[in-house]
Amino acid sequence: MSPWRSELSFVLLSLLFGAFFAKLFNQASLVLWLCLVSYLARHLFFVNRLLAWLQGGRASQMPQGDGVWEEIYYLIFRLRRRNKRRKKQLIQMLERFRTATAALPDATVVLGPRDEIDWFNEAAGQLLGLRRGDIGQQIGNLLRYPKFTDYLKRKDYHQATIGIPSPAAENVQLEIRVVPYGDDLRLLVAQDVTQLRFMERVRTDFIANVSHELRTPLTVLKGYLETLSDADATPPAYLKVFRRMEEQTTRMQSLIDGLLSLTRLESGAHALVPKPVDVPALLKLIREEAGLLSDRGPEIELRLETQAGLMGAEPELRSAFSNLVVNAVKYTPPEGRVTVRWRDEGQGARLDVEDTGPGIAQEHLPRLTERFYRVDVEGGKSGSGLGLAIAKHVMARHGAELKIASTPGKGSCFSCCFGEQRVIRALPLAAQATAA
Ligand code: ADP
Repeated sequence: MSPWRSELSFVLLSLLFGAFFAKLFNQASLVLWLCLVSYLARHLFFVNRLLAWLQGGRASQMPQGDGVWEEIYYLIFRLRRRNKRRKKQLIQMLERFRTATAALPDATVVLGPRDEIDWFNEAAGQLLGLRRGDIGQQIGNLLRYPKFTDYLKRKDYHQATIGIPSPAAENVQLEIRVVPYGDDLRLLVAQDVTQLRFMERVRTDFIANVSHELRTPLTVLKGYLETLSDADATPPAYLKVFRRMEEQTTRMQSLIDGLLSLTRLESGAHALVPKPVDVPALLKLIREEAGLLSDRGPEIELRLETQAGLMGAEPELRSAFSNLVVNAVKYTPPEGRVTVRWRDEGQGARLDVEDTGPGIAQEHLPRLTERFYRVDVEGGKSGSGLGLAIAKHVMARHGAELKIASTPGKGSCFSCCFGEQRVIRALPLAAQATAA
């Protein structure tokens, strides 16, 4: 029966009794008043029962009621039961999440808006040395590494991860990443990369050793081939063969040199010791060398719009700039033009090496700085595929960026963008003398 129908029948029955007693005692207003009071008292009684149930009663035991109250009790009972089920599911889910994050081999820390620790998993205890008592403390006070403090302060979390040694475990290398989520919350994830770093070192050491070992036999081979291709006694039929062999050994030598410098840069074993570098003088030198490389090559124009220098490693900058200029000369036809432009951008300085060569298709651009990546074109020039990888590493070591823009059929522009902190506008005399 609908709750209102049962309530209505109750009201009608009371009115019927009221009318009967009013007739019997001839006291209509008193009987009506009594009826209203008893009706109100019934509702108050059920309200009180509802209150008692909500305040302390068991959600699974629905109180007895009749009329509209039976329906109200039932609906509240159903709501409470559903909430209870949902709460149980949520608790289970949270528990599962907690066990999963606790089992994660990576240290996970939830940071609040002021970098304070809200929660962390077991691995964070082992890798970062955090304890229960550290909850609420600022993470920067516990992980005292300038690199890490800087990373937190900058709030530029799109930057790749940063590496720090573990404060809790000796010889353990950590890679830290902060992921923002929700309103002002962040997740700090620290991964143990000791094994990975070790493997990387083994790989670079291997390449460096092999390259180094190959150098001596190649030099000997090249020496003999040079002698043989110049010797008068060599039969003319063999001369061509020897020259080809000599060309190939030269190529192998440049490959090995490239690999060696790349592994040296990648290993980061030698920290960059910045010294003033006279960039205009360096560029003049590179231009001369590039001009000598191909006397019938494209015209090279050097535009020095500033006399500013850089704080950096001269041999590295020389190899990076020279790779870009040599590439431009190599890939641009003789009737084309190469423009090397050095300019002050107010907030930093920039070197543009622009050419009117064949250009590079868009799909190759993101992979161009990978080692050994070469664009296969018909009648393409020979090369090692290491030049741009070296240039990119040198730029990264100088906190600079290598930008590549190219339009097929029109030409390419390789730019090295240096930050303001690297630029020196008044070069010390010593730097000018060294470059000259
Ligand atoms: P490589 O020794 O082959 O020149 P790099 O790493 O210097 O190696 O260059 C990688 C590839 O990028 C080259 O093989 C070439 O296809 C392309 N490239 C580099 N510079 C230019 C340029 N100025 N114009 C057109 N293509 C270029």
